[in-house]
Amino acid sequence: MLVVDDDPMFRLLLTGVLGQEAFDVTEARDGAEAVALVQGTAPDLVILDVIMPNLDGYETCRRLRARPECADVPVLMLTSLDDVRSFRLSFEAGATDFATKPISPALLVHRVHFMLRASATLAELRQSELRLAEAQRIARLGHWELDPDSRSFRGSSQTGILLGRALGADATLEDFLACLHEGDRGDVRRAFELLTSGERGLDCRYRVAGEDPRFVHLRGEAARNGSGNLSIRGTVQDVTADVRSEDRVQRLAYQDAVTGLPNRLFFDDRLRAALGQAKRRGSRLAAMLLDLNDFRRVNNSLGHGAGDFVLAEVARRLRDVVREQDEVTRASAGGATSTVARWGGDEFLFALGEITQGEDAAVVASRILEALQAPISHAGQEIFLSGSIGISLFPDDATENADLIRHADIALHQAKEAGRNTFAFYSSAMNEQTMVRLVLEAGLRRALGTDEMSVHYQPLVDARDDRIMGAEALTRWCHPQLGSISPEQFVPLAERLGVINELTEHTLRRVCSDMRSWSERGLLPLYATINISAHQFRNPNLPAVVSSVVRNAGMAPGNFMLEVTEGVLIEDLVAGERMLGELRALGFRIAIDDFGTGYSSLSYLKRFTIDVLKIDRTFVRDIATSERGATLAAGIVALAHGLGVEPVAEGVETVEQRDILLACGCFIMQGYLFARPMPAESLAALLKLGPGALYPPITDASAAAA
Ligand code: C2E
Ligand code: CA
Ligand code: CA
Repeated sequence: MLVVDDDPMFRLLLTGVLGQEAFDVTEARDGAEAVALVQGTAPDLVILDVIMPNLDGYETCRRLRARPECADVPVLMLTSLDDVRSFRLSFEAGATDFATKPISPALLVHRVHFMLRASATLAELRQSELRLAEAQRIARLGHWELDPDSRSFRGSSQTGILLGRALGADATLEDFLACLHEGDRGDVRRAFELLTSGERGLDCRYRVAGEDPRFVHLRGEAARNGSGNLSIRGTVQDVTADVRSEDRVQRLAYQDAVTGLPNRLFFDDRLRAALGQAKRRGSRLAAMLLDLNDFRRVNNSLGHGAGDFVLAEVARRLRDVVREQDEVTRASAGGATSTVARWGGDEFLFALGEITQGEDAAVVASRILEALQAPISHAGQEIFLSGSIGISLFPDDATENADLIRHADIALHQAKEAGRNTFAFYSSAMNEQTMVRLVLEAGLRRALGTDEMSVHYQPLVDARDDRIMGAEALTRWCHPQLGSISPEQFVPLAERLGVINELTEHTLRRVCSDMRSWSERGLLPLYATINISAHQFRNPNLPAVVSSVVRNAGMAPGNFMLEVTEGVLIEDLVAGERMLGELRALGFRIAIDDFGTGYSSLSYLKRFTIDVLKIDRTFVRDIATSERGATLAAGIVALAHGLGVEPVAEGVETVEQRDILLACGCFIMQGYLFARPMPAESLAALLKLGPGALYPPITDASAAAA
């Protein structure tokens, strides 16, 4: 204890009573001596007289306080009772307390006891705060408090350090949110709203804003204080290291080290999730197993280092294919779910989500095989690879993970047997369909404009005198490997591939040149009918295209009748009317094909100007065998006459059918009874023979012979 007073008497008295209390007392006669005494060792308490020569009490106090070791030492100032100013000056100089002189030393001792106790408490508090701050620093933990009304946000200094930005005294919740990653702000704002409404505590990880990825764990609770006000307090903790090591663990557990692809374990999870989603949405999914052919050769001849290099490169290519696929499906299905994983050795497994049909998987499989084809360069060597792929489909082939993969494996073996560098489906039906479709797709573009595509003609006959009035042009595709392909198969394909216009132009050009050659031989007049698919009828360029082909061939549109189905007209009445109007204005005649199938609305017939109604062969088929069939056919014929439209019966195969139709007033007929579709030359021969040549019914074969 340091007693500083210039009055020796007072010092003596004080030392005496303090000594009795077992205090260790040091005396100083003035301020300068006191300042010199505290060098190095700080007293527990200083009793300081204000009025002293040279250095007065205030200045002494200031100088003591300036020493770090004395910064927190309690200082008791002894002032004169009548000097009110001295109380304030003492306070400003940094004194802890004051007592007025004269004072009895006994009373002063009690004062000293009180001050020492307060100072000890303060020191303890300061210690514990220091320890707490230290602990928080080590734990990388900060704390904060939010006033839900003013939205003012107060964070500890550690909070500022963790968030990389000091939050000042006037900081708000928005300032705090600005420290977090953009993508997480919305979530945190909502979490704070829930906190404020007292609904739920906050306990979640978020990303911190800034270049290098850092993560904090936010915890918060809302509580009412004594006066009933809501206050929200919480902590923020840096968990970047935890997240990194969890990531690493995750990677080690779920990732293949050589290729960086997910491993079996991870794939299983993903496939299960994708299957769950596919089940909920009722969508399709494919599992595909890829096996590299002869990969062992790479390992054996070039070493495992080269093997690993090749696997990593393959993985990179596969990932690209899957990403592209996902971009395609994301556009249509609003979510991509494809995964590629290393299944072990040289096997890779794919899950393709959101596919609509098996062929989508076939497309991806061929892309994978294609991606493998480019050689891989390693240490000056070119390594050539190929693969085989087995495909199984959910829900077609299996509904559970294990079965799906097993079936893909079985399909893989089939693919290997079928030859290298190919894929196979688990279900053989799928295989055939897809192969045919793929071969056809590849062939169709090439076939257009070549002799693979030809046109046959089926006569339209006036059944009263067997005169051939016209002929329907029916396109034929003779595929070099697959033989004759039905237009019912390749017309939709041409639509899908976007070559339907080329197909029609091709057909129309052939028909024009055939018509020219007939006319040169004096075999006309005759009209040809051309089928226009629904898809094409929607194309506004159609009139321009057909009329230019016809005119370029030196023919008149009046020699042509275009057949369209009623469906496309009903679908968009306004567009249909405009299209028909344009075509008729150009001089083409219009027939409604397959009339009576599918649509019952007759009102459109009033609206459109058409020339011919082709009664579908399903009506003609029943005409001689059922009362109902006969009534229906008669009704359609009457309807046509009522509208001033010529009825034409399709698919007439028997004399009975012909006679009933004639009796109803339908005279123009088409069908096997009269002639099958035949090559142009056969039709020319038939035309030359003239009416009556049609009996006995002429077939492709006999017409060709003629
Ligand atoms: P469609 O317009 O109804 O053509 C008539 C179909 O019925 C032809 O089949 C013809 O061979 C067949 N047929 C004719 N008479 C009889 C018969 O007495 N009995 C039976 N059962 N069938 C008969 P095809 O040639 O296979 O054509 C199928 C469809 O393909 C056509 O149906 C037509 O919609 C379409 N099509 C054919 N060529 C073309 C074309 O160049 N362009 C477009 N867009 N479609 C075409
Ligand atoms: Ca037709
Ligand atoms: Ca038809």
